[in-house]
Amino acid sequence: KLYNQVQDLKGSIRVYCRVRPFLSGQSNNLSTVDNIEDGNITISTASRHGKGCKSFSFNKVFEPCATQAEVFSDMQPLIRSVLDGYNVCIFAYGQTGSGKTYTMTGPKDLSEKNKGVNYRALGDLFLLAEQRKDIFCYNVAVQMIEIYNEQVRDLLVTDGSNKRLEIRNSSQTGLNVPDANIIPVSSTDDVIDLMNLGQRNRVVGATALNDRSSRSHSCLTVHVQGRDLASGATLRGCMHLVDLAGSERVNKSEVTGDRLKEAQHINKSLSALGDVIASLAQKNPHVPYRNSKLTQLLQDSLGGQAKTLMFVHIGPEPDALGETISTLNFAERVA
Ligand code: ADP
Ligand code: MG
Repeated sequence: KLYNQVQDLKGSIRVYCRVRPFLSGQSNNLSTVDNIEDGNITISTASRHGKGCKSFSFNKVFEPCATQAEVFSDMQPLIRSVLDGYNVCIFAYGQTGSGKTYTMTGPKDLSEKNKGVNYRALGDLFLLAEQRKDIFCYNVAVQMIEIYNEQVRDLLVTDGSNKRLEIRNSSQTGLNVPDANIIPVSSTDDVIDLMNLGQRNRVVGATALNDRSSRSHSCLTVHVQGRDLASGATLRGCMHLVDLAGSERVNKSEVTGDRLKEAQHINKSLSALGDVIASLAQKNPHVPYRNSKLTQLLQDSLGGQAKTLMFVHIGPEPDALGETISTLNFAERVA
């Protein structure tokens, strides 16, 4: 008998929006965010051309003062459903600097209080698995990969190898990237070590001029296997926690070469993701998963019985207005 704590979730795609606070030193700025009420956010589009505003609605909007704990507690039922055998996909979308990594991982100076979703999610899974230990036996293992220029790379390597990996959707093993290391974990400390390793490997790929983390997608995948101790029945759930590449559009007249190629790859994969989510939201029979590595990777966790949370991030700065509107438009397409 499966526990189902997620019956209260309406539909399988939810969209949350989080507004980053001004960073220190910016306090005298005027925010483009005019109002936040329930799931609605109103952006002031006022400029020297005149007044104006535009409203968007989502399942939830988090104010700049929302804490990491508050954000996590809203996602908790979704995350817990992995132990019931659901596939879950949570991804952070937004322009570079909007707070994606802060939400998923946390700031650079990590403390107990400001830890992001990834750490909290694993901690919570271990806690719940422990509470159910008389009924279920769970095994948890993680993979961490990066998609850069439509190439898939394992972030959990210790020998510096940089092999390109293939994505194969294997419903037998539940592993989409079978050649990426899969590492059993049993405590939050294990996870912290692995995430630090993944982070170091990500940086190795970057050059001084090229902050690769903003131009690649990183995905922490948590695989859960459970066995019902009474009946012997087994279940399998998986969760993808994705920190997407920055969604900002680049000015084609200003960038060339590698930078342009990166931008085109990002553009292509983010629009493929948008197309997949939009066709799922519209209950369209054809879902175009094959159009990017990102959507191929997430295929088993988008649609069907899977539960998806798109977490869009915006900054409050007037400079970012164009990107803010374009982020919210992207998100509203599926909300
Ligand atoms: P992204 O990953 O989207 O490029 P980051 O998560 O790196 O953006 O955030 C940019 C900066 O803003 C970082 O210094 C981060 O610590 C800070 N920041 C982001 N979101 C918040 C928040 N909710 N509260 C406080 N600081 C934040
Ligand atoms: Mg980031």
